[in-house]
Amino acid sequence: MRLAIAEINLQALAHNLAQVRQFAPNSKVMAVLKANAYGHGLVKIAQHLNDADAFAVARIDEALALRAGGLTKPIVLLEGFFHQDDLPILLANNFQTIIHDENQLSALENAKLDEPISCWLKINTGMHRLGVAPTQLNDFYQRLQATNNAKDTINLMTHFSSADDISDTKTAEQISLFDSLVQGKQQAHCLANSAGIIAWPAGHGDWVRPGLMLYGVSPMLNCTGEQHNLKPVMRLTTKVIAIRDVDAAQGVGYGGCWQSAQPTKLAVVAMGYGDGYPRHAKHGTPVVIAGKRYGIAGNISMDMISVDIGANADGIKVGDEVVMWGPELPVEEIAQCATTIPYELVCNITPRVSYEYLE
Ligand SMILES: *Cc1c(COP(=O)(O)O)cnc(C)c1O
Repeated sequence: MRLAIAEINLQALAHNLAQVRQFAPNSKVMAVLKANAYGHGLVKIAQHLNDADAFAVARIDEALALRAGGLTKPIVLLEGFFHQDDLPILLANNFQTIIHDENQLSALENAKLDEPISCWLKINTGMHRLGVAPTQLNDFYQRLQATNNAKDTINLMTHFSSADDISDTKTAEQISLFDSLVQGKQQAHCLANSAGIIAWPAGHGDWVRPGLMLYGVSPMLNCTGEQHNLKPVMRLTTKVIAIRDVDAAQGVGYGGCWQSAQPTKLAVVAMGYGDGYPRHAKHGTPVVIAGKRYGIAGNISMDMISVDIGANADGIKVGDEVVMWGPELPVEEIAQCATTIPYELVCNITPRVSYEYLE
């Protein structure tokens, strides 16, 4: 019997990409597949995003894994390259690079390359992570135009820090700063992550970079994907492996820090932080068994979680399916119960979980 399973719904994935196009009808789509496609399986997900215009990843190894998997679309390295020796690999594999600082630019200028590389110049408009300062932009731009190692078209990119919050004025400021900086530079402009795509149409530009929304999950504060007509791609389930009685006031699990007010039954389910389930999920975090919600009782262990199924147990028995998150239980809600963001939950699925791809 298979226990922890991540079902990946490929129809939902296709639906979500179509939704990206609805949100940003005039933009090309760079599908973001970093971190094992947000825990959904890199190559498998890429194979089912035929309709994307390009892929984007964070690390060269991720891009190489896509090529090894037979994917031929352009791939953008969102952090660029890390050493001059990487450049021939970029050329040989048709990877496009971000240029975000002086080290990268001078490495590119000094490299001996047979052909130019396609570059995206990243501008820091307020995220203060990667990107050249607005005051450095023209210098970087001219040096990129001058070097034979960069293709003549220098594309321009920035990244939002606060687009998940529609009440924050920061995103509008980043968009207008970007627009003023790139005036007269006709190359492709790319600003928006998922939250930018959903909430900031002025920032759609020529290309968008959706990550989380492709997987059917909302990046917006206090929202679920359903509210943006997205469909969850991952459904994480496991099985009940034991049912036990506890009396009132018996401490359950490590530290004994959960107790029932009255005698009850617990379903012990095969899932824990060793599968990637968040250990910080609080008591009462919901799971779904046979369409009904029940609350988690006690601390999350590495391999098991106890669930309070009530004194009459509702007919629940060993072997029954337990949904940890999925279409019937939004991962955004579980993230709130664990005081984290849904990005972290889907990324954290461990190799112990079996993947099942539903066409
Ligand atoms: C991860 C990432 C994205 C995608 O962000 P989502 O919020 O998942 O849509 C876009 N751009 C950059 C630079 C990123 O690092």
